[in-house]
Amino acid sequence: MGNINLLISNAADIIYKSKFTIALTGAGISVESGIPDFRSEGGLWSRFDPSEYATIEAFRQDPEKVWKMLKEMDEIVSGARPNSAHIAMGEMEKMGFLHYIITQNIDNLHQEGGAKNVIEYHGNSSTLSCLWCGRRYRSIEKKGEYPPKCHCGRVLKPDVVFFGEPIPVDALHKSYELASKAEALMIVGTSAVVSPANSIPVIAKQNGAKLIEINLENTHLTNSITDIFLKGRAGEILPALLKELKSRIH
Ligand code: NAD
Repeated sequence: MGNINLLISNAADIIYKSKFTIALTGAGISVESGIPDFRSEGGLWSRFDPSEYATIEAFRQDPEKVWKMLKEMDEIVSGARPNSAHIAMGEMEKMGFLHYIITQNIDNLHQEGGAKNVIEYHGNSSTLSCLWCGRRYRSIEKKGEYPPKCHCGRVLKPDVVFFGEPIPVDALHKSYELASKAEALMIVGTSAVVSPANSIPVIAKQNGAKLIEINLENTHLTNSITDIFLKGRAGEILPALLKELKSRIH
């Protein structure tokens, strides 16, 4: 434990000195809110293989089948609440220690945890689109309808990025701009294998940012470009980091 405390203190020094800090978050930050990541045993993804259910080809071929997974995901996400990691990051933003969060998640928990500057790199599920006629709906209009259908009779798709789909262009450009000017980047709960989100740490590092990684396990970044690796649960590490930051201003 002694070693982790020293590492948290070193990470706090970096963030305290940095004039522009951003974060990249992934499914791991929401595991403690009850939303499984791709690795959680016995979770959603052990029954719905992402390569079979989360690709755009799968949706085009059999949208009813994909909606079986989306319905369960909707139910899990709608019952989830932000955990201490989301809340600590929201407070870091309020205190001026964190300027933007780029999240790969579609669960809205950063916003519910108090963060305002959130870039949803993989979109969000508050709107639905028809891939066939282009019509768009607010999800609330179709609440409880499974699968939700368009005026034209086809099944609607939530505006989240499926594997094989492009990143929303505004999110892509903004993230690139932020990664290019960040002095520090926190990488939280992501295996950093999904492209192109995994280019964000590389761009930040090339432009001189310090990389602080928070994860339960080593990733391919840990022994390559990460500067400080804080091994543990995001829900414990982030509040501890916030406490260290607060101690520097009192
Ligand atoms: P991933 O499942 O590939 O990796 C999750 C990472 O989080 C792993 O490295 C794991 O060790 C780590 N982790 C798990 N629990 C943790 C905890 N309590 N504290 C710290 N780290 C923890 O997820 P990914 O890299 O985000 O890529 C999967 C893709 O699927 C992304 O686009 C992701 O957003 C999406 N997805 C989103 C949700 C969501 O919105 N909550 C859930 C599942 C998948």
